[in-house]
Amino acid sequence: MQRKTMKITRAQHYGMCFGVRDAISLAKAQTQDEPLTILGDLVHNEQVMADLKNRGVTIEKDVNEIRTKKVMITAHGASRKRINEVESKGFQVIEATCPLVRHAHNALGRLVSQGYFPVIIGQGGHVEVKGMTEDLEEYSLIEEVEEVKGLPQHPKYGVVAQTTQPIQKVREIVERMRQQFPGSQVKFSDTVCRPTKDRQIAAETLAKECDIVIVVGGKNSNNTRQLVIKSQSFGAKAYHVQGPEELDGSWFSGYETVGITAGTSTPSEIVDAVEEELEAIASRLSGRGAATEFAVPAMHSQAGLLRMD
Ligand code: SF4
Repeated sequence: MQRKTMKITRAQHYGMCFGVRDAISLAKAQTQDEPLTILGDLVHNEQVMADLKNRGVTIEKDVNEIRTKKVMITAHGASRKRINEVESKGFQVIEATCPLVRHAHNALGRLVSQGYFPVIIGQGGHVEVKGMTEDLEEYSLIEEVEEVKGLPQHPKYGVVAQTTQPIQKVREIVERMRQQFPGSQVKFSDTVCRPTKDRQIAAETLAKECDIVIVVGGKNSNNTRQLVIKSQSFGAKAYHVQGPEELDGSWFSGYETVGITAGTSTPSEIVDAVEEELEAIASRLSGRGAATEFAVPAMHSQAGLLRMD
């Protein structure tokens, strides 16, 4: 008896955002005439970083180890303190900071200048969060709703979030702060970026429709991890893979619907390769020859793939 074929669907919004794409293009352009050092990982994706290294880009975390004249700040941004440190050593700084990260820095700066005590919702130690906090004299950093109870008492709180935090959790934290400090003013500036919100909403829809969701992205990518958590919270089995080689055929046995989504650092070629491998797995599981039984993925047009941010 022939088994049912697996239906494979891509999320409505997935994969590389404009901020990451622009940063990669800038790095490639900059390295054409002169060697370039990138201060930290330009994006949280091993394959993209390997490609840049092949083009002669050096990745360095320690400013004292830089051997090129030009130094690039990543899409995650950096503090003024950090940029000044690099410039003071005579390097030419090239900023690939995403405009939406810059927007978050500006929103935070405005709140501080208006006398609000800064509260940043984000992941401790993350490079974007370091960039947001290193110039501040005092601040509180929280990542989970339960951490609100540890906040010090202040009359005015100014709250911003790391751009890749789940907006639902961010709103819960702000709400909890308002409940905990009824006599204080809690001003929230929503700095979660649109591409992150779009991918989170699309992952939710996908998770409701699919038995399994494959999330493609770097293991150290915060927004990719958040897509896994989001998919799991809506009942799907979710697997985080960096590429097609990490897919395991046994995950899919007995399941009929598989969704694909990807973090904001994941190139479309890797998503394509994952989908191809899923088609091959589905063919093997169904015992049918080709992948022609598959549902047309949401992002395919008649002429080919449609690309979106
Ligand atoms: S995830 Fe958002 S903030 Fe980060 S680079 Fe992409 S668009 Fe910019």
